[in-house]
Amino acid sequence: MGMKQPTEIPQVPIALIGGSGTFSLRLPEDLELPGVEVLEDDLVYATPWGPSPSLKLFSLPTNPPRQIVTVKMHGRLPGVSWGEASRRLFWVFRQAGVKKIVAEGGVGSINPLLDPLDIVVPTDYIDFSQRRDLALTEDYLCIMRQPICPSLHHTLVRVAASQPLNRVFGRGTYLVTEGRHFESEAEIRAFRQWGADIVGQTLCPEVYLAREIGACYAGIYLVVNYAEGTVKPWEHKVLKDIFFKGAEPFARLIMQALMEIPLDSSCGCPELRKDTLLRPENIGRARRGGNNY
Ligand SMILES: [Zn+2]
Repeated sequence: MGMKQPTEIPQVPIALIGGSGTFSLRLPEDLELPGVEVLEDDLVYATPWGPSPSLKLFSLPTNPPRQIVTVKMHGRLPGVSWGEASRRLFWVFRQAGVKKIVAEGGVGSINPLLDPLDIVVPTDYIDFSQRRDLALTEDYLCIMRQPICPSLHHTLVRVAASQPLNRVFGRGTYLVTEGRHFESEAEIRAFRQWGADIVGQTLCPEVYLAREIGACYAGIYLVVNYAEGTVKPWEHKVLKDIFFKGAEPFARLIMQALMEIPLDSSCGCPELRKDTLLRPENIGRARRGGNNY
């Protein structure tokens, strides 16, 4: 495993945060897509909080070629809290100048209209996790209006809907739990009343960290089980089948989306990050007219 210094971090505009939806694949190698090339593997960088998750760099045969940095299972590190691992991952993304982030994962269905193997590209979230003090700096006020980039979302829905295997839902609210366990039946009942459609453990804090680094963020999720008390008790065999057999078609459509996502920033996401007003030099400025800020 190579340990690269921060100055060596390559500039890469797009990141793919892999989750349980593609965990059982070596991505992108196992897809054997023509023209897709792994440029570097096992990249580990020193961050202010310790070593980063292991990253892989590959290129897509677009014109011009697109470079993608990717990580498995949301960058989880053994013995490190999930939120902490996310922070180290996004520190590398910031150094790499990442501007577009696509995440994927397996989720449970809270909305009884959903079934296993459905694909959901959510538009909003509710954070029930407790990863509170996670930021790279204290420099920004992160506005969570439009948390999911409409431009990335549009491409993910369009590409997903172009394949015949899965039903695709382009709206929905993702309820984030702390994990690592699944939820209780009473929790799911409460989450349904809150208006949540799917439940998972990863969209937060990633969506906050993406906003902090000024990047666009969207996720695409494969339903792998009914949440407790929804429709019927879920079966581990179904979850396991999707984990292994569902990974490849899911990964193929994600790769197609990565080829097609627009790289401009007319979506407006970067403007939802404002410089913080909570700076020492602002103490006392309220009485000085306030016309110089
Ligand atoms: Zn955007």
